[in-house]
Amino acid sequence: MGFISLGCPKNLVDSEVMMGLLDRAGARLTAHPEEAEILIVNTCSFIDTAKQESVDTILEMARHKTSGSAKRLIVAGCLVERYRDEIQKSIPEVDAVVGTGELEAILEAAGLATPTAAPSLFNILSGSGQAEVRPGQESRAATHKAEVANSRAEGDLREQQGRFRRDDWQGATHLLPTYLYDETTPRFLTTPRSSAYIKIAEGCDHPCTFCVIPNLRGKFRSRRFESVVAEAQQLVARGVQEITLIGQDTTCYGEDLGLKDGLALLLDALAGIEGLRWLRFLYAYPNRITTRLLETIARHDNICKYLDVPLQHASPDLLKRMKRGAGAGIFLKTLDKVRAAVPGIALRTSFIVGFPGESSSDFALLEEFIQEARFDWLGVFNYSDEEGSGAFSLDAKVPKRTIEARKRRLMKLQQSISKRAKQQWVGRELVLLAEGESDETPLLWEGRTQFHAPEIDGKVYINDFGDLETLEPGRFYNAEITEAHEYDVVARVVSGPL
Ligand code: SF4
Repeated sequence: MGFISLGCPKNLVDSEVMMGLLDRAGARLTAHPEEAEILIVNTCSFIDTAKQESVDTILEMARHKTSGSAKRLIVAGCLVERYRDEIQKSIPEVDAVVGTGELEAILEAAGLATPTAAPSLFNILSGSGQAEVRPGQESRAATHKAEVANSRAEGDLREQQGRFRRDDWQGATHLLPTYLYDETTPRFLTTPRSSAYIKIAEGCDHPCTFCVIPNLRGKFRSRRFESVVAEAQQLVARGVQEITLIGQDTTCYGEDLGLKDGLALLLDALAGIEGLRWLRFLYAYPNRITTRLLETIARHDNICKYLDVPLQHASPDLLKRMKRGAGAGIFLKTLDKVRAAVPGIALRTSFIVGFPGESSSDFALLEEFIQEARFDWLGVFNYSDEEGSGAFSLDAKVPKRTIEARKRRLMKLQQSISKRAKQQWVGRELVLLAEGESDETPLLWEGRTQFHAPEIDGKVYINDFGDLETLEPGRFYNAEITEAHEYDVVARVVSGPL
């Protein structure tokens, strides 16, 4: 069986759950897609380019049904939620589809629903490399019961207002996903041995007009507190030392469970797990960064001094059209508060350029804000006009050329900000997680500090191992930053492994 996971870490966790279920049912892995009997593509459908990549990958895998040994092609994920019927109609090679709310249906789709089903070849082709089975995975509980989904008043209200409606999505089911995995669900980790993601919540109740994720993933729902803690304990027992908490909005965690400051409480509990060296969360919503959350980050040595808060824009007018609210002034105050509470914290954000109605003065305001805010890491996305999103029907669409030009300008601006900031790193001694040889040259290794989240931020190149012959991937070292480039830095190992 072959498995390709596209899209974000949240989709990767879904892939790991499906692979875990298949693994438990007896599926085996091979690194050669042409040998796989069953091919699975877990798709992303967030924006146009992601949809295109998903379709291209499905078509590429469909070719293995004629030229390889593939007998079955399964499409899973967000594209299925959007175009369930259409996929099979337009690509007849597709034998089955599995939506984001029915991950366990992957077994039936693969013909492995019964425990006696014959093992098959299993191949991983995800962006993060070839997967491996970790000790203990095979012996996980034989039956899984999905968690019962909760809801928040905000989500119920938005549902009444039609936020999650799919009525005009031809070929999509009207049923919203409600699935949540739990600590008893088998997961087949595809991340490097020392790191893992935990999805603490699913879905989203926010009304952002550019975003169709709530329509694809359903209403916000948190996993049980104890379930997340138990999963983290299991991961650490298996050798994981870095956990990254994810969800569409991690800062809403626990609101549907009646918890106040749920994420802070969860971080507090997880930080106490012995052997967990780095803990972080991604995707904070700006108005939910509470004092208690910041105090929790500051209090624990093993909570990374890192905050990812996608702001999307800085112009109050545009943020209003996006149905997100706030603006540069409020954001700057929030950032000041964050930096005061957690000195030295690394800040990551992302912006959308070319949202309908983005005038040159809106854009100038965004540039000014970026200058002032001085983010450590910044992503810029082109607005993508998604059918079914609130913004689809908005007027004053921005021409594609202008969008491209604005993106280039922001990246250039950030490049100079980042270069100056990274120069301040030179001479600092930091704890470094060695990840392995660089893809660019075997002469260099790559690593990350607590200020780098997996996959998304700049790199630390290691060109000097100090007194050591070599390094071990997945181990931590003390290292000194010796050079700085635009986004990346160079380090030499001082001591370790820690
Ligand atoms: S917070 Fe906004 S952008 Fe993020 S998933 Fe929810 S609706 Fe989409």
